Amino acid sequence: MNKLYVVGIGPGAYKSMTVEAIETLKECSVIVGYSVYVDLIKEYFPNKEYVETGMRKETERCQAAIDLACKGQKVAVVCSGDGVVYGMAGLLMELGAKEENLEVEVVAGVTAALSGGAELGAPLGHDFVVISLSDLMTPWELIEKRLAYAAMADMVICLYNPSSKKRTDYLKKACTIILEHRKKETICGFVKNIARKGQEKRILTLEELKNTKVDMFTTVFIGNSQTKHIKNQMVTPRGYQIS
Ligand code: SAH
Repeated sequence: MNKLYVVGIGPGAYKSMTVEAIETLKECSVIVGYSVYVDLIKEYFPNKEYVETGMRKETERCQAAIDLACKGQKVAVVCSGDGVVYGMAGLLMELGAKEENLEVEVVAGVTAALSGGAELGAPLGHDFVVISLSDLMTPWELIEKRLAYAAMADMVICLYNPSSKKRTDYLKKACTIILEHRKKETICGFVKNIARKGQEKRILTLEELKNTKVDMFTTVFIGNSQTKHIKNQMVTPRGYQIS
């Protein structure tokens, strides 16, 4: 059986990769990925064949990886964070369905919600939801509905893809929807370039977040009604009674 691995490389630093991800990449002969992610790992895995593609070439990149794996090469497709969370794993399984001799295996990685969460403190200490603000493949009306229901349910909300060159006001729009159900003092935070050069973070209120511009390399956290700001950390209590 030919194997194709989907390896989540974590947020960006070598030390944020799992041991399993490192070992899998060491064993593979070909590494396929978006050039930004490939550049993050290349120096640690020399002597590999790299197949790099630009953004929005996902289907071509996945098909190329499948073709190589079907020829018997040990291939890994690398994704930032985790390969399932807005990553390539599902597409590889869909495209690979017609190949009888191919098995697609996922090697979990640390997704931005977790690595960014750790930078802020403990924002995801209770029930949370992850929502992408990218409407490239999801209708904006559905994104609005998910935001509204998550806000109503008092879930901690973690936003991926909060902005792009074309979608500069989406975070503002999302905050406006959430503010219909949440207080403007709700504790929020964001982390930019997690585990990469230029990492930045900030804790602020929902009202302040609404008027803040972030870029596409940022992950945003909106606390629930219990989330606190303690010693410059964002903390969502699990609910333990402390005296
Ligand atoms: N598979 C990735 C998510 C890809 S979607 C994962 O599991 O983390 C791309 C979005 O992920 C970005 O817009 C941003 O919101 C978030 N993201 C991924 N890596 C990040 C990093 N190093 N720093 C900040 N945000 C990141």
